[in-house]
Amino acid sequence: MDRIDTDENKNNNYVRHEEAEEESSCRFFKSMKKKVCDFAGPIIVGAGPSGFAVAACFKSRGIESLILERAHCAASLWRLKTYDRLRLHLPKSFCELPLMPFPAALPRYPTKRQFLSYLDAYAAEFGLRPRFGVAVVSAERDASTGLWRLRADSGEEFTTRWLVVATGENAEPAVPRIPGMPSFLGPALHTSAYRSGEAYRGKRVLVVGCGNSGMEVALDLCDYNAIPTIVVRDTVHILPREMLGQSTFGLSMWLLKWLPVRTVDRLLLIVARLMLGDTARLGLPRPKLGPLELKSLTGKTPVLDVGTLANIKSGYIKVRPAIKRITEKGAEFVNGRIEEFDVIILATGYKSNVPRWLKESDLFSEEDGLPRKPFPNGWKGQNGLYAVGFTKRGLLGASLDAVRIAQDVELCLQGRE
Ligand SMILES: Cc1cc2nc3c(=O)[nH]c(=O)nc-3n(C[C@H](O)[C@H](O)[C@H](O)COP(=O)(O)OP(=O)(O)OC[C@H]3O[C@@H](n4cnc5c(N)ncnc54)[C@H](O)[C@@H]3O)c2cc1C
Repeated sequence: MDRIDTDENKNNNYVRHEEAEEESSCRFFKSMKKKVCDFAGPIIVGAGPSGFAVAACFKSRGIESLILERAHCAASLWRLKTYDRLRLHLPKSFCELPLMPFPAALPRYPTKRQFLSYLDAYAAEFGLRPRFGVAVVSAERDASTGLWRLRADSGEEFTTRWLVVATGENAEPAVPRIPGMPSFLGPALHTSAYRSGEAYRGKRVLVVGCGNSGMEVALDLCDYNAIPTIVVRDTVHILPREMLGQSTFGLSMWLLKWLPVRTVDRLLLIVARLMLGDTARLGLPRPKLGPLELKSLTGKTPVLDVGTLANIKSGYIKVRPAIKRITEKGAEFVNGRIEEFDVIILATGYKSNVPRWLKESDLFSEEDGLPRKPFPNGWKGQNGLYAVGFTKRGLLGASLDAVRIAQDVELCLQGRE
């Protein structure tokens, strides 16, 4: 085994060797020698906030890790796939990663740019240098060596004793099948490709989906004098972002320390009704379960209103029920109404890509690519497999996972696990 002393592996502490060519059905390997990196520490797949959080926790315990990232930059979701007006939905105190608070000078809800600067500073502080442009296409435990073996799209392979999955709940856009969609003659895009309403001035835009992204994109379209219509397929909880001078999220967390979830839900809904009125009258009926109970049972996040509702009330944003079918020029809704649109924006969320590349089904469900066990028990699998950032609890959940994982690997290294 040759150690190659490049700057890259000095930083990343991995050992590369060339395995003797094996009999392989893969033509690629028949023509060249296989490159394998045997890494002594944990390998983290994904250089988003979760990957960074766990790498920093490792570093603080003297454990060197290797981060593999398919994109050519860190935090690719935030950097490349989010709209310009995005701010953290939750106050910064609930979004900071372990071991480094946000600068005090930042506003309560930092902008996307400020959040990215924080992540860049975080990487610099902990010396995190991911290997970019490395998409992991398969990972499997080799029972004979007890190691996880990862393969990248380049054909490069990696082995490790500890595999940390940090590819996120939002790895790929979720695009539902809507009857007639291929017949639509105008542009149709997912919110991951939407940057601002600038390109849609004066256009009739159908926004499909009423989660935080759909609501905010509709608001953004208003700001650019587009004509947005939002589809509300069934029910949605809309809450003011702030209540009684506090963030609604912070207030809820505080109340939950003293009161049962259903009581807190009742209080939230009373205040929301006083502040926002009856949203059902606007075409936005509320689910039967309260917002916090629904979140804990299904992971469905309430919408925190940042101004969209005022535009719905004024009639600037129109609300329509579920789509029956898309036509060449627009859509037919389930109430029989047919309307024309110039553009369709799918605010239909994201999904995990874990089942596509991880050959394992104990920790992760093959159906949705999320841990089978609910929070707080979904971070640890068998044989050195870990999940960070799959709690449906945003950055706060990722931070909790990261600390636990680093503790666990440290115990293992000390021979106490
Ligand atoms: C619009 C929007 C706003 C949000 N706002 C908030 C908020 O205010 N507060 C909050 O707490 N949460 C928020 N979230 C939730 C969000 O999921 C987290 O903020 C955060 O991005 C999750 O970090 P992550 O590292 O787990 O996943 P990601 O940020 O998605 O990072 C995963 C990384 O893994 C890489 N990757 C994926 N597959 C592979 C592969 N096979 N090989 C190599 N690399 C791979 C991806 O390229 C990506 O860089 C928001 C999400 C969205 C979409």
